[in-house]
Amino acid sequence: MPMRHLTILGATGSIGLSTLDVVRRHPERFRVYALTAGTRASELAVLCREFRPQVAVMASAEAATELSHLLSDMPDIRVLGGPGALCEVAEAAAADTVMASIVGAAGLSPTLAAVRAGKRVLLANKEALVMSGKLFMDAVADSGAELLPIDSEHNAIFQCMPADKIRDPDGAGVSRILLTASGGPFREHSADALRDVTPEEACAHPNWSMGQKISVDSATLMNKGLELIEACWLFNIMPDKVEVHVHPESIIHSMVEYADGSVLAQLGSPDMRTPIANGLAWPERIEAGVPPLDLFSIGRFHFERPDLVRFPCLRLAAEAFEAGGTAPAVLNAANEEAVAAFLAGNLCFADIPVIIERTLSGTAVVPADSFDTIFAKDSEARTRAREQISLLAV
Ligand code: NAD
Ligand code: MG
Repeated sequence: MPMRHLTILGATGSIGLSTLDVVRRHPERFRVYALTAGTRASELAVLCREFRPQVAVMASAEAATELSHLLSDMPDIRVLGGPGALCEVAEAAAADTVMASIVGAAGLSPTLAAVRAGKRVLLANKEALVMSGKLFMDAVADSGAELLPIDSEHNAIFQCMPADKIRDPDGAGVSRILLTASGGPFREHSADALRDVTPEEACAHPNWSMGQKISVDSATLMNKGLELIEACWLFNIMPDKVEVHVHPESIIHSMVEYADGSVLAQLGSPDMRTPIANGLAWPERIEAGVPPLDLFSIGRFHFERPDLVRFPCLRLAAEAFEAGGTAPAVLNAANEEAVAAFLAGNLCFADIPVIIERTLSGTAVVPADSFDTIFAKDSEARTRAREQISLLAV
């Protein structure tokens, strides 16, 4: 098998570290070309010592200076800083595969750079696709990039569909996608109890260990809203054919229903190394370090409908997708600002959807005709969201 040369965007995060754990198990298959991180130079330095990339990139010049000092005894590693350098390693000819695992809108430009350069792009950074939807998918089609979903649900759907008809659900005979959701840590909380939850409680997900932002998104169900939009773009399907099923055990990672009544599901332990290994090695299968599933100890599976009254974020995401144009970018920006304020202790949990709803209703929807338009709306929405946050601040 050919050696794959990887750029890992967001190497110090939850997905980045899981990716490196799979890479570590297969030195004959994968070589790391570049590793990137946001602000934590010391964490990236440790990874550089183990994986010896040719290039290491920090999101800012200051953090890059810190990393250079930490790696002063390793002159073979080129250290760069800033958003331009993130794009540079994403599109570099020396890498054929890019793991897009920066969190949030900050990941859009480097992910897009990898897409435009025609790489195999392993997409964890769902916000990039939610923000730019059709433009992003058009860029994939134009460059011939190989886009493989890493989000566990979308990777499950991908595995349950014929490989040559991933974007042709009618041709494949698909009638519905059943998108599973854990329901998050507050699935059984009353609306009143939701007002007082803390960032620590929101980040303590019952089944998955993840970064803080996606943990809060799982708790509000915004994660499922972003994933609904992600599924529509990836699989070229209308939202009325995607039905969210809350499945608290998080063992079935999603299902595809076909015209003949067959429902195909992908199961596994809730461990991101499975979809990551699937994307890294596709169409082969490699060992991922994930313990085998023990269905006897799990015993039962449960399913329920999502409660859109207690968790309005899923409804807001569906409405933003329906509104089209720049609305999903506004939804995403407002959510990022609200989640950051909640994590900083400046906004109560129940006000996250309030901020998003106010930002959406106060920001005109325009056609998403260029990435410049998307970035302009993103920053307009952030300004509006911050104004609303200051009005509701705790
Ligand atoms: P995380 O917070 O653990 O890691 C984020 C990474 O991005 C870190 O390496 C950080 O240094 C880097 N980063 C943050 N801000 C940056 C910036 N401005 N510029 C450059 N780099 C920056 O997040 P995560 O949980 O690993 O999630 C990453 C992405 O994968 C998210 O889009 C998330 O929705 C998606 N995802 C995560 C999981 C999971 O299990 N963690 C599952 C599915 C999808
Ligand atoms: Mg997911």
